Order: sequence, then structure tokens, then C-alpha cells
Amino acid sequence: MNKENFVGKLIVIVAPSGTGKSTMIKRLKTDFPTLVESVSFTTRPIRPGEIDGLSYFFISREEFIQKKENNEFLEWAEVHGNFYGTSKAFVEKCLSEGKHVLFDLDVQGTDSMKVYFGEVANVIFISPPSVEELEKRLRNRGTENTQIINLRLMNAHKELQRKEDFDFLIYNDDIEKAYKRLCEVTQKILKG
Ligand code: ADP
Ligand code: 5GP
Repeated sequence: MNKENFVGKLIVIVAPSGTGKSTMIKRLKTDFPTLVESVSFTTRPIRPGEIDGLSYFFISREEFIQKKENNEFLEWAEVHGNFYGTSKAFVEKCLSEGKHVLFDLDVQGTDSMKVYFGEVANVIFISPPSVEELEKRLRNRGTENTQIINLRLMNAHKELQRKEDFDFLIYNDDIEKAYKRLCEVTQKILKG
């Protein structure tokens, strides 16, 4: 991939689990139809309402390891006990077609993208107002059991230490205010 000649922009959104990232990305894709979301591969169980091939490609650990060995991932990471990986072929195709690509990654994946793409990757960190509020959101969402929620909260403490390290930081306290700011930042990246 020749990073210097990209026409399309790369936008990475990173946030601790439960912050509201998926909620905001869903709206963003409607308001910015030129953004194409990178659909990752994961070994995590599918949640009610998720669609295989749209939310993620849900695969077994064996299939994931095979793809990793075949060098099919641009980056991959173990997050909250499951594997997640970005498809190299999908991203290469989008970028060769000049499309803007949106990534939803954890901090490890975001670091890999920065190593790979440098300045070309625009990273937006979304922070919850507090870990207490994050816990409430995770419990209200009701998609994970207590043990998994606790693991996600433990990881959130670590991820929040990195919130100042990226290109943009948005606090999702009030969803409307946060979403408005996300739209402004996206607009700025796409125009730049
Ligand atoms: P993530 O994708 O970051 O894990 P979600 O988008 O699934 O998080 O949001 C987690 C939960 O928090 C959802 O139930 C969502 O409706 C809720 N939520 C998102 N933003 C806010 C907010 N600003 N205030 C209160 N609840 C929110
Ligand atoms: P969830 O299980 O809640 O959908 O996602 C858990 C975490 O994995 C989130 O922080 C999400 O951004 C991250 N994630 C999703 N896809 C990928 C990916 O392809 N690579 C990496 N590194 N993280 C991912």
C-alpha cells in the first residue's frame, strides 16, 4: 500500500467498551454516507441484534489463527479475551478506490495503525465522563454478564490512561453534544 497517494481518509475511533462508540458510529455512517466502515473479524460470540458480515465477521478461534498465519490482517489484537482483526484485503480495496475508511479499534489496534499509517491515520478517542458512568452504561446495555463487564471495566482503566495520546479527544457525557463534536471533527478530517 502506498500511503502517500491515498485520496481517501482513514479515521480510527477508539473508546473503552460501553462509552457509546457503536451508537455514534451508526449515526455517523448515516450522516456521512461516503464513510465505509471496516468490518473486522472476531472470535467473540454474536450479540442479539448483530448481523454476521455487517457488525463483524464472526469466526472460530481456529479460523482466526489460520487467517493470522496467512497474514490476512492489517492488525489484530486480543481484547477482553477474544481475538479481533482488521482485514487487509478489505482496507486495501477501499483505499485503492479512494474511499474514506472508518475503523472501530481498541488501543492496541490503534497503536498498530499509527505505526503503519502514521499521520495518515486520524485517531479520535471517545472518553466516558467517568468509569462509574461507563459501568452503568455497560450494565444497562445488558449484552455481557457481570464477569465480562468487570473485565471490560478493568481494561477501561488502562485504556483511559491513553486518552490524551491521539489526534482528537471527545467526551461522551451528553450524547447530542458529543455527537455534534464528532461530526465537526469528521468534517474537518474529510476536508483536510
Ligand atoms: P460501545 O460501542 O462504546 O461499547 P455502545 O454504543 O454500545 O458502546 O453504548 C453503550 C450503552 O450506553 C448503550 O446502551 C447506549 O445506548 C448507551 N449510551 C451511549 N451514549 C450515552 C450517553 N451519552 N449517555 C447515556 N447512555 C449512553
Ligand atoms: P466489542 O466486543 O464491544 O464489539 O469490541 C471490543 C473492543 O474491540 C472494542 O474496543 C473495539 O473497538 C475493539 N475492536 C473491534 N474490532 C477490532 C479490530 O479489528 N482490531 C482491534 N484491535 N480491535 C477491535
